[in-house]
Amino acid sequence: MTAAPDALPPLSGLESARLEWHRVDGGDEAPHSTTFDDVYFSRHDGRAETEHVFIDANRLPERFARWQASRPFVIGETGFGTGLNMLCAWACFDAHAPMAARLHLVSTEKFPLRRDDLARALSAWPDLADRAACLVAQWPEAVAGVHRLWLDERVTLDLHLGDTIERLALLDGRVDAWFLDGFAPAKNPEMWRPELFETLAARSRPGATLATFTCAGVVKRGLAAAGFRWRKVPGIGRKREMLAGEIAEPAADRRRERTPWFSPQAPRRARHVAVIGAGLAGASTAAALARRGVRVTLIDREGPGSGGSGNAQGALYVKLAADTNPQSRVYLAGLLHSRRWLEAIDPARELWAPCGVLQLAMREKEQARQARFLARHTLPETVVRGVTADEASRLAGTPIAHGGLEYPQAGWVRPAALCARLAATPGVSFRQAEVVNMTPEENGWSLALAEGERLTADQVVVANATLANRFAQTARLPLQPVRGQVSRLALPRGAPELERVVCAGGYVSPALDGVLTYGASFVPRDTDTGIRDADHAANLAELTATLPAFVAALHEAGARLEPDHLEGRAAVRAASPDKSPYAGPVPDADAWQRDYATLAKDATRVPDTPGRHHVGLWISAAHGSRGLASAPLCAEMIASLICDEPLPLEQPLVDHLHPGRRLIRDLIQGK
Ligand code: SAM
Repeated sequence: MTAAPDALPPLSGLESARLEWHRVDGGDEAPHSTTFDDVYFSRHDGRAETEHVFIDANRLPERFARWQASRPFVIGETGFGTGLNMLCAWACFDAHAPMAARLHLVSTEKFPLRRDDLARALSAWPDLADRAACLVAQWPEAVAGVHRLWLDERVTLDLHLGDTIERLALLDGRVDAWFLDGFAPAKNPEMWRPELFETLAARSRPGATLATFTCAGVVKRGLAAAGFRWRKVPGIGRKREMLAGEIAEPAADRRRERTPWFSPQAPRRARHVAVIGAGLAGASTAAALARRGVRVTLIDREGPGSGGSGNAQGALYVKLAADTNPQSRVYLAGLLHSRRWLEAIDPARELWAPCGVLQLAMREKEQARQARFLARHTLPETVVRGVTADEASRLAGTPIAHGGLEYPQAGWVRPAALCARLAATPGVSFRQAEVVNMTPEENGWSLALAEGERLTADQVVVANATLANRFAQTARLPLQPVRGQVSRLALPRGAPELERVVCAGGYVSPALDGVLTYGASFVPRDTDTGIRDADHAANLAELTATLPAFVAALHEAGARLEPDHLEGRAAVRAASPDKSPYAGPVPDADAWQRDYATLAKDATRVPDTPGRHHVGLWISAAHGSRGLASAPLCAEMIASLICDEPLPLEQPLVDHLHPGRRLIRDLIQGK
């Protein structure tokens, strides 16, 4: 029901740009691609070229000045290169747009520059230095996929790393102005194929404009065939002419023909959103909406981070499948996203540490699985790599008998403190209350609170973990409670130190504030939150099996590992049957049952009825024990859906997270 996983290219790292540096007029240097034998920008005045070709020919100053829409203005670019075009668009936006306007930049890149090359290339423009520094600081790992960067309060950049045609085909979003860059067609015929123009037409908003430095026949023909009107306009420097144009009528998005149930809701007013549940899922969604100028009431029957997100310390890590599947893709994207997001919201690293995570392979089966994973994927070693037992021991700072995988980007977080920080975001007001039911109204929702009061909002996000399906509208989304207890040991002076999070069956983090946290137990269908000695014993047995020398050293240092001396915290997390989160619009299950009943007889005959949803109702739940990796990305996705922006994930992955995926599967299976 989600698009076939093979619609996505393999989970892979990307080759970096191969550059030579040439001296240009005025003494600066400019990068030259040895792969394409072409320049990134004009040797004479790259900045003036960008302003003329891309900014002015798309009429951005005047369009920015008039931009009043609640959604952001969206620029799409083929070939991010050094980012000069996008930094200039950002500067132009700041110079012309009203304060309430927002800008969303979407750019593809198959051969990303290395971070130091990026900084070197952009150093030629001193007046862009601050913007360049912001880009360089957030520059993502060279991994195929979508990487969201927050350039400032109003400007977001989504880097879609990979081949332009492939990436734009996977883009969930539409564009107002195109920058068609990407080296000259004669030097890069692979990119300027007819499919490029068809995809541009299918990802354009009505009235979308385009500009490109080239006048090549293949471009003119491709644009015209895809429904763009183009005209020659004066070029700059040695280029006498260039092309500008606009779409006559955007092409339909045909991707929904196979999956009409996932069709998007028409955008709706979102001045005030109620978010139910102040754990990581809800609090991160509230903060993401507030950043977009939406007023948020964050509601929880207890306080922020009181349930599954309430531990003092938790591990930020993922377990990727040996054979790529959509779930692994979501988690890898989520891990890289959480890492960048934490750096952006807490640069002082008060709430987290990217110390790296070791995932040990203690049994043959896991060793074989990890070996298969490494053989199949070409991810950069800075994201995941195989390590021997010796390396693992050196990295962790304690003898370890097994090798495994190292995730250098991962680490630990203070989830409870993070939820409190997010709940205090300006624009978010926290309200302690219990929502008992929700009723749709003409332009929004009315929430009934346990004390009898009602609260209204334009839209609602349900993010209260195991209770997320307590409402009539969400009751058909299966959720399983899973009890988890962590053990917390106050360390005596001289206790051994751990340098990495280490996980195998459970996990153990480097000590925080003199306390070692390890666990967690995993008991499906158990909702009790009492502390159990048996769980402490199971956590210790797991820790001892994983790190026997470390535990022996703890004993030697006088640590008291008996249950009586431990602190514990138990909470209940929610999981979906397929173990992926639910993130997206809430389906109208009864309508789906009627509209798609024929799938039970013949799953190949897909009705053309668009999926009906509870308009303005969203869910982020079932994050299980991996919420630190999945919840912030889901929050961005939901905020982007509510605010009608391009999404930070490829469309098949957005579909994979759709809360209705199970309903369709059951219909097809005749359940
Ligand atoms: N817009 C850039 C800037 O502001 O610096 C300059 C772009 S440079 C002329 C062309 C870029 O397109 C290069 O970074 C190159 O790696 C990228 N590129 C070329 N072919 C591509 C493809 N098929 N998919 C994605 N990127 C591609």
